Amino acid sequence: MKVLPKDFNILEIEEKWQKKWQEMGIYRFDWNDKKRKPYVIDTPPPYPSGDFHMGNVLNWTYFDMVARYKRLRGYNVLFPQGWDCHGLPTEVETEEYYGVKKTEVSPDKFRKMCEELVNKYIGIMKIGVIKMGCSTDWTTEYRTMDPDYWRRTQLSFILLYKKGFIYKGTYPINWCPRCETAIADAEVEYEKREGVLHYIKFPMDEKEFLTIATTRPELLPACVTVAVNPQDERYKQFIGKDITVPVADRKVKIITEEAVDPAFGTGVVMICTYGDKEDVKAVQKHHLPVIMVIDEKGRMNQNAGKYAGMTTEEAKKAIASDLEKTHTIEKCEPIQHEVGVCWRCHTPIEILEREQWFMKTRILTDKLEKNAWEITWYPDYMRTRLIDWAKSLDWDWVISRQRVFATPIPIWYCKKCKEIVLAEPDWVPIDPRIQKPKITKCPKCGSNEFTPERDVLDTWFDSSITVAVHAGWPDKKDWRRFYPADLHPSGTDIIRTWAYYLMVRNLALFNSKPYKSVLINGMVLGTDGRAMHKSRGNYIATPEVFSKYGADATRQWAAGGGATGSDIPFRWADTEYGWRFLIKLWNAARFAGQHLQDYKPKRGEKLKLELLDKWLLSKLEKVTDKVTSAMEECQFNIAIEETRNFAWHVLCDQYIEAVKHRLYKPETYGKGKRTTAQHALYEAIYRTLQLLAPITPHVTEEIYQTMYIDDLKHKSIHVSPWPKPRKNLIDEEAEKYGDLVVAVIEEVRRDKAERRMSLNTPIKKLTIYAGTQKSAHILNQAVKDIEGTCKIDETKIFAKSVEGREVQGYSGIRLTAEY
Ligand SMILES: [Zn+2]
Ligand SMILES: [Zn+2]
Repeated sequence: MKVLPKDFNILEIEEKWQKKWQEMGIYRFDWNDKKRKPYVIDTPPPYPSGDFHMGNVLNWTYFDMVARYKRLRGYNVLFPQGWDCHGLPTEVETEEYYGVKKTEVSPDKFRKMCEELVNKYIGIMKIGVIKMGCSTDWTTEYRTMDPDYWRRTQLSFILLYKKGFIYKGTYPINWCPRCETAIADAEVEYEKREGVLHYIKFPMDEKEFLTIATTRPELLPACVTVAVNPQDERYKQFIGKDITVPVADRKVKIITEEAVDPAFGTGVVMICTYGDKEDVKAVQKHHLPVIMVIDEKGRMNQNAGKYAGMTTEEAKKAIASDLEKTHTIEKCEPIQHEVGVCWRCHTPIEILEREQWFMKTRILTDKLEKNAWEITWYPDYMRTRLIDWAKSLDWDWVISRQRVFATPIPIWYCKKCKEIVLAEPDWVPIDPRIQKPKITKCPKCGSNEFTPERDVLDTWFDSSITVAVHAGWPDKKDWRRFYPADLHPSGTDIIRTWAYYLMVRNLALFNSKPYKSVLINGMVLGTDGRAMHKSRGNYIATPEVFSKYGADATRQWAAGGGATGSDIPFRWADTEYGWRFLIKLWNAARFAGQHLQDYKPKRGEKLKLELLDKWLLSKLEKVTDKVTSAMEECQFNIAIEETRNFAWHVLCDQYIEAVKHRLYKPETYGKGKRTTAQHALYEAIYRTLQLLAPITPHVTEEIYQTMYIDDLKHKSIHVSPWPKPRKNLIDEEAEKYGDLVVAVIEEVRRDKAERRMSLNTPIKKLTIYAGTQKSAHILNQAVKDIEGTCKIDETKIFAKSVEGREVQGYSGIRLTAEY
């Protein structure tokens, strides 16, 4: 056994192993292994923003710990890494960077520009993944923007189309006027915003009028009816009558609608196409006409008459002022109301009616619920988030987007008869905007001219087949062996997108749930307790943390920061504590190494262990058992706390201190007692490394490679077997007795500390009043360890409790020391 050096540099150790692990290829998945069970992780492909932030670190630490733990448990672990490349932010950045508009260059050329930027950002983020010591199998790396990936995305589209899950139609959709694209329900967030409630008079005849309350007078030109609650006595006599919409100067009917809240404003509301989702429902229910007044850029169109060309904000002001002039506004009140906004740019969304592609998802809700119950959730309460979300959806998933940098929809239209031409599975990857369909004539009319579908697919359409892609679908014949994924890691913020879309897509495509378990991480909070965000000044950059304390310390923060699923604040103190723990561990292992030079472990050897040896080894088995259960349940905070507590306090502060005399002076205390201490140390240090290996992979590897590899022969601690708790070594009596001995030693040390004496100060005589015969007997068994540790010349132990300082935690036991 080699001895660890006194001086060491954690950051250098980490870098060294990150390189070596790559060379050794120990994290590579063996596709042909039929002996070990596969364990497949559905690693999230992050969006290459160029910033691997602390939220990513939390997430990646979670499932890297699982990957490492499962590998140690003997599984053949598939831990892939992809990049979810498409998206609007990249388009916007590319336009800025190159000074072009995406509409000015060919889609092909624009794609190339985007790719360049994305590759640069992937490079930066990959460094982040490597620096935190992830056990990724880099031979599996993929990018959703690669033709080989969109081949799979397009194939899934074709299959779903053929199965009847895809349709095109003109329906109301959420629209971001800034991003100029349709967006899905999952991409709409609700924010409280200040607004003005306008009370507007709608005349019925010369004298009579009703007052309606609205925050959006600019929608008056789109008003198609006025509604009251059927129970509202105030307006019963007006139901069915005509009423005039100001500004539009158009007559509409007054109808009843249960959804109208009599307590909101005057209890009379206008229904416009479309102000919100309630309007959409009312239009469908009452078969109302649709008058669209807002265009894709968020401007008023010709249906808005003289307000055409204005932005919605301008139109709001202009219409309000016109109403003011004709005394049609009764009053205005400030109001706080919920506004649906685009999740990317926070612009209030509009509801427009546009022709789009949809995937039928609502018909899968019952199936989704059934499957959600069959899945293991860490933590369990997260299951309802997925189910509740699925049940809340009013619309199917709008999958088409009006963008460039995305997977093309593999569709053309016959120029003459408008027939839809769907690509065949062997045509993909294909970009209809650039390539023609591989048929010469329209199957319906025989025409040979086609127009491409210019819309592209939602990014979530790419990433919701990851599980199948990871497994090798559609190319590997036996891909089902690696599907569904064993673990799907997700953040609380993407359950309604990623977890949801994976579920519906896989149920539709493969009639299977995509994953067997879901591991949820919370958000990382800044030092001020709010979500960490660059704009809030509470942002900590990952490289700053890594370069100060390294990955193993940072991973301890991630593992120990809180219960799985809960939000976790970033605290420098936590990483510093992790760093100090590694130093403590190193020094303990170094000390052990120095005293193990003449020790050869003999398998199956029966040693006559001292009480404190049994005490340590029993606690060691117990902590192994606890950590194993915690890792099985993804309770990482329990795993790290239990291990650190054992290593730092039980092993270092208590055991090592109490056996140093045996190790240093076998001539005084006996060679046998030295051997049993060596045995306990050898076992305890190695086991601690094993328990820590999934959490702090670098330092544990370095210590293992220095001290244990010659003896144990595993080429890395990360491919060694996980320890099985040996329950026969759990000895409750030894633990109880050992605790008492340790308490006495600590009391003596406290006595010295209070007298401002060094711990090495010799004691002439120690008198222990044990309180009972039994305690006296126990202490007598370990009297040599007590004397050796506390430098005592003579010890007297009495059963009776008479005088002296009380031993903490043992009210009947007292002691006095004479110096
Ligand atoms: Zn937007
Ligand atoms: Zn045709």
